[in-house]
Amino acid sequence: MSSITDKITTILKGLFPESVSLHEPVFGGNEWDYVKQCLDTGWVSSAGKFVDRFEGQLAEFTGSEHVVATINGTAALHICLQLAGVQQDDEVLIPPLTFVATANAVKYCGGIPHFVDSNEKTLGVDPEKLESHLKEVAVIRSGVCVNKITERPIKALVVVHTFGHPVDLDPIVKICHYYKLKLVEDAAESLGSYYKGHHTGNWGILSALSFNGNKVITTGGGGAILTQDKKLAEQAKHLTTTAKVSHKWAYIHNCIAYNYRLPNINAALGCAQLEQLPQFLTEKRLLAKKYIKVFSGVEGVVSFIEPSYARSNYWMNVLLFDKECVNDLEITLKQTNDQGIMTRPAWNLLHTLPMFENCPRSGLETAESLATRLLNLPSSPILGMPYS
Ligand SMILES: *Cc1c(COP(=O)(O)O)cnc(C)c1O
Repeated sequence: MSSITDKITTILKGLFPESVSLHEPVFGGNEWDYVKQCLDTGWVSSAGKFVDRFEGQLAEFTGSEHVVATINGTAALHICLQLAGVQQDDEVLIPPLTFVATANAVKYCGGIPHFVDSNEKTLGVDPEKLESHLKEVAVIRSGVCVNKITERPIKALVVVHTFGHPVDLDPIVKICHYYKLKLVEDAAESLGSYYKGHHTGNWGILSALSFNGNKVITTGGGGAILTQDKKLAEQAKHLTTTAKVSHKWAYIHNCIAYNYRLPNINAALGCAQLEQLPQFLTEKRLLAKKYIKVFSGVEGVVSFIEPSYARSNYWMNVLLFDKECVNDLEITLKQTNDQGIMTRPAWNLLHTLPMFENCPRSGLETAESLATRLLNLPSSPILGMPYS
């Protein structure tokens, strides 16, 4: 039996004597009241006051000019990429260490994921490696970035604020500007995370949030598109509402579009959840602090700590195993889960999945290393509440 595993299990059992899940939603506010209002009035579906209210409150919280609520985060990403101009056979730079939705959304537009490496200090796209990779493979022709090897345009970069931790946006914005790439932020995990004092999701031309059941706040299922651009916001609204042209009675639709609206009943949940978001964030940061403290004495592992420029929501806490201790990770996963403590490994890197294995890529050494060394710890906000 590995001693690292025993130490970690003992510490987690000390914190959580009962079984504990990875991330559970908390419904401690006005959820019942707002959902009941939907049922009482009959406004449960694609129209109603809670959608507008939710969008307005999200805009206020994130500091984003425009917010369009969607049926889920994946749909939001799909529309972000379509509006970023991603078309058939365009390449889109993305990290491999992310949830599969990031790559799927590229595919929905007919695009091709092009994987770039991550940074150990941020868990997200590494600006230095991105730049040296582009120097090697990219050339600008008539204002378009082209992959010299595949001869396909490289249209966009999607950065992911992995587990809620912001990537280093400033150098990334510069690189996108130089290489004429549209920047999209997959901010699905980073509601309540700030880069240099400003909320994530405000650097890309468009950004996507998710309110799935395991995210910082939940609407059951749901997502949102953030943008500063009024025109893009209008287009996003149009594309997510079957391109219906407003008319008193006629059914006029002027392009192929999607039914990606967030139902009012889900938005009602979202309004109640947003009211509790500041408290969730406080609790999540307290939990992170607690983890950092209790694991500081364990040799062979380190707690992931927010980058210095960031204030992170610590959506999902991460324990990183030293390179020499990767074998202990598998044993730790087994032992903790056997004892009712839900821990999880990193996602399988997307370039290893069958549908993406032939996609272009840079060297992915850091992402590959992180994927073998990363353990997600139970991270529900309620776990951060001080015990009596
Ligand atoms: C959750 C998530 C999504 C997708 O959101 P859904 O609401 O589940 O569709 C996309 N990207 C990342 C990084 C996510 O964590």
